[in-house]
Amino acid sequence: MQLLHNIFQVSGDLVGLTVDEPGAIWNDCNSYVIRLEEGLLLFDTGCGDTLDQLFANIRYWGMDPADIRYVFLTHAHYDHAGGGHLLKDLRIQFVSGNETADAVGKGDKRCCGYLYHKVFTPFDVDTVLNDGQKIVVLGLEIEARLMPGHSMGCTIYSFVWEGKKVVISGDVIGTKLSGDFGWSGSIDFCRTKYLDSLTQMADLEIDYMLPGHGMVYFSGAKRRVEEVLNTALMEWRQ
Ligand SMILES: [Zn+2]
Repeated sequence: MQLLHNIFQVSGDLVGLTVDEPGAIWNDCNSYVIRLEEGLLLFDTGCGDTLDQLFANIRYWGMDPADIRYVFLTHAHYDHAGGGHLLKDLRIQFVSGNETADAVGKGDKRCCGYLYHKVFTPFDVDTVLNDGQKIVVLGLEIEARLMPGHSMGCTIYSFVWEGKKVVISGDVIGTKLSGDFGWSGSIDFCRTKYLDSLTQMADLEIDYMLPGHGMVYFSGAKRRVEEVLNTALMEWRQ
C-alpha cells in the first residue's frame, strides 16, 4: 500500500499484505519501498517464502522488482532478512550495520531461524554503516543509527521526504497491537543496550515512523518513542 508519495509498504503479514502460513502474523515484517528516479530501495526482505507476494505488491503499484538497487536491513531476524539470499542472487546491493552484516553472513542463531522452524540461508552485506553514518543512494541521503537491544544489530534509517523526517525503525519500537518493545527472545537480546538505545531515540525528531510490524505512525511518533522509553525505565532498571 502507498504510505506517502513514492513510499510503499510491500509486505507485512500483520496487515495481510503477505501471508506465509495460515494464521501466521509474525513471519513477515513490514517491508518498505522508496521509488526514486534511478530505481527502488527496499527496506527489509520479509522471510523469503513470500517473496513472490512482495514482488506482486511492487508490481501492483506500477513498479518493477528488477529495479530494486539496494536493500537496507534493520536487523538479522528471519522475518526481516530471511529473503536476503534470494535478492542477493539477483545481484542487489545490501546495506546494514556491522552486527547485522556479521549475523546474516554467518546465518547463525542471531537470525532466529529456530523461532520459525526454518533454516536461515546466509549471504553477504556489501556496505556496512556505522552509527551516525550517512550514505547517499540513488540521490537520497539516508542516515543510519545503531539501536542495539532487541538484537545487537538493530539499525534505524532516517531521511527527509517532502520536508518531513521519516524513520524506518525496525523492531526497536513494538507495534501498539502487541506491547511496547520488540520480541525479547533473541539470543542477543540485551535490556541494558535496549534502554540506552531508547534513550537516544527519544532525542530524535521524527515526523513519520515506519516500524517493523503493525501500524505506521503518521503522527505522534516521538511521543510513542517517549512512552516506550518510560516503560523501559520503569520495568528494566536495576
Ligand atoms: Zn526482530
